[in-house]
This record gives sequence, C-alpha cells and structure tokens, in this order.
Amino acid sequence: MTEANQPPAVREMMARLISLPSVSSASPQWDQSNEAVVQTLAEWLRPLGFETEIMPVPGMPGKVNLIATLGRGPGGLVLSGHTDTVPFDERNWSSDPFVLSERDDRWYGLGTCDMKGFFALAIEAVRGLDASRLKQPLIILATADEESSMNGARALAEAGRPKARYAVIGEPTSLRPIRMHKGIMMERLVFEGQSGHSSNPALGRNALEGMHAAMTELLALRAGWQSRFRNPAFEVQVPTLNLGCIHGGDNPNRICRRCELHFDLRPLPGMDMDELRNAILQRLQPLAQERELAMSFSPLFDGVPPFETPENAELVRACEQLTGHRAEAVAFATEAPWLQKLGMETIVLGPGSIDQAHQPDEYLALSQVQPAVKLLGDLIQRFCLE
Ligand SMILES: [Zn+2]
Repeated sequence: MTEANQPPAVREMMARLISLPSVSSASPQWDQSNEAVVQTLAEWLRPLGFETEIMPVPGMPGKVNLIATLGRGPGGLVLSGHTDTVPFDERNWSSDPFVLSERDDRWYGLGTCDMKGFFALAIEAVRGLDASRLKQPLIILATADEESSMNGARALAEAGRPKARYAVIGEPTSLRPIRMHKGIMMERLVFEGQSGHSSNPALGRNALEGMHAAMTELLALRAGWQSRFRNPAFEVQVPTLNLGCIHGGDNPNRICRRCELHFDLRPLPGMDMDELRNAILQRLQPLAQERELAMSFSPLFDGVPPFETPENAELVRACEQLTGHRAEAVAFATEAPWLQKLGMETIVLGPGSIDQAHQPDEYLALSQVQPAVKLLGDLIQRFCLE
C-alpha cells in the first residue's frame, strides 16, 4: 500500500464529506442521493484493507448503504452512521453549509455533528490499524435516509446484514453513552360521514362529532398508558400522545362530512407499536360503527420502535468505563432498533451535541475530535483486537 492511497487527513476528510450534498427529505424538492458520500467513504476505506459493499435501498433510486468490513469472524464491532443530512435554510447560516469553516475552535458545516463528521473520525481511528491483528471483524456501516424514512436501516434489517456482536451508532451525544430512546409513531385517523343541512341532524352523519368522541377516547388511552408505563431515565418519564392537527368540515351550517386528525405517539421501551395501534383500533371502531362513520386509521410513516439495551450489557459497561459516564436515555430516535433487530448489542455514542443538530450553523467542537478518535480506537481495541 502506498502513502498516496491513504485517506486524507481528518480535516480534509471532514471537508470533503461536508462538501457532498446528501439531504434526505420526504419532500421531493429537497431529497437528494447519498451515493457520492458512500462512494467517497468506500474509496477511503479500500486502501485500509476494507472490503466494501454498496447496497442499493430497494425502491429508492440513488439511495445506498455501505457495508465496509475489515477482517473476518462471527463477532466483531460495527461503527455505524447515517450519510444523509436534514434540509437547511442557507439564509440562517453565517457561512456556506457545504464548505467546512473553522472558527471559534469549531468546525462548521451541514453534517459536521449530525453526522457525516463521525465517519472522518472513525476512519482516523482505523488508520494504522494492522488488519492481521484483528481477532474479530470491524465493520463501518453507512446508511441512507435516516433523517427521513429510515429506509436504509430498514433495508439492512430486512437483508439480515451486517452481522456482528456489537454496534455503536455515532450520533451526536457529546460522547456520552445512550442505551435508551422512545419510539416515534405518527398516525392518521379519518372519519367520513354524510353532509346535510345543519338544521336537521337526521339529514347527515357528522364526522366532526365522531372525531370529538375519538379524541376523548385517545386522551383516555393516553391517561391509561401514562399510569401504566413510567421510566425515570427519561426527561419526560411517560409515553406521550400529541393531537397535532385536524381538518374537517367547511361551513358552520353544514353537517361535517369528513374529518382528519394527525397525532404522534412516543412509546417507552417495552411498549409494542402494533399493540398500541390495536388498542386504538379497538377503542375507535365501535364508536365509528355506532355513528355509521367510515373510519380509516393508518400510519403516516412506518414509525421508529423504542430502543433499550440492558444496563448490564457488555457494550454498555465498556462504554461507561471508557467514557466515565453512566449510560442515559435521550429524547431523539435513531437507527438503533434495527441494528438491535440484527442481533447486535447496540449503543448510541458519538461526538458533537444534539443541540447543534438540525440547526443553522451546525458545528462540531474541535475539543471533541481527539477524544472521539481515542474512544473509537479504544472500542476497536476492546472488541476487535482483544
Ligand atoms: Zn443523526
């Protein structure tokens, strides 16, 4: 291997990754391919001895996952991140979001902390690693579409890849280990009845009144869940249900024919999303039947399950020891449930703060760079070399 083949210095890698736009969004006018980021990572990882596999996400042209593997064996460690970023509003940025800008001991740019920057640090930690010394494989996993559909991670879980024993997701946690987050569900409820003149209620079936009854049921369900489920590790210790928006009817003197409600639900670890949907259905179906309203209840997106790795898991213990922090819970969701589904002990732990993610002037504090590289090196040592 020649020097020329080696990946560039960490700042240069960071600058390159930031310069390659990879916004993902449910809005087609924002959505972009992540292929350039994945190709770049693969180009850097191959000279380090990694076998690289680029896997298209089924049904999503231009969206790809990367599985880069160094060494062989049944166990091993996955260092995982997403290659996409959220959309941005350039008017609120002090510098070009696609040009790495160093000021105030920070690297500014879209994706510096959430989380293309993580890959630069992970590759830095791998540089100089002697592949022949690996007892277990090291896998760098780079996913598509975390910020929108999570379909990159879903596709991996579906394909049963990659397999390893441990996974670290480098989302910005200020280098504190995270072993729990809530799930996210966004649901849509529609009632359809019959319009008619308001002077005679018998002329129609009022969807808005049906929705009123449904919302009462939803709030009662919420109260039940909140009394049954509580986890003191979370800032908001109970599961939440938010009635987010409602559209129905068109006139005060017309019986409302159609009403649509969107709500979100944040289940705690231990709550099953399908069971929650069933519980809702069972409460609402009789109510719709009674009022002769057609009802449709469907997810607005597939949802992110809640995530928890037990506090006594080996990876949790190791990360607590290496960072000096107890593993905590966070309020944001990650790809962890899918990596866990693949059979891996999973933790979320990475440089940068979630406070700067999804914000104009996103940055990574330079003070996080060396500690992150060191921590990743220690994890590789512990789970691949010992
Ligand atoms: Zn992220």
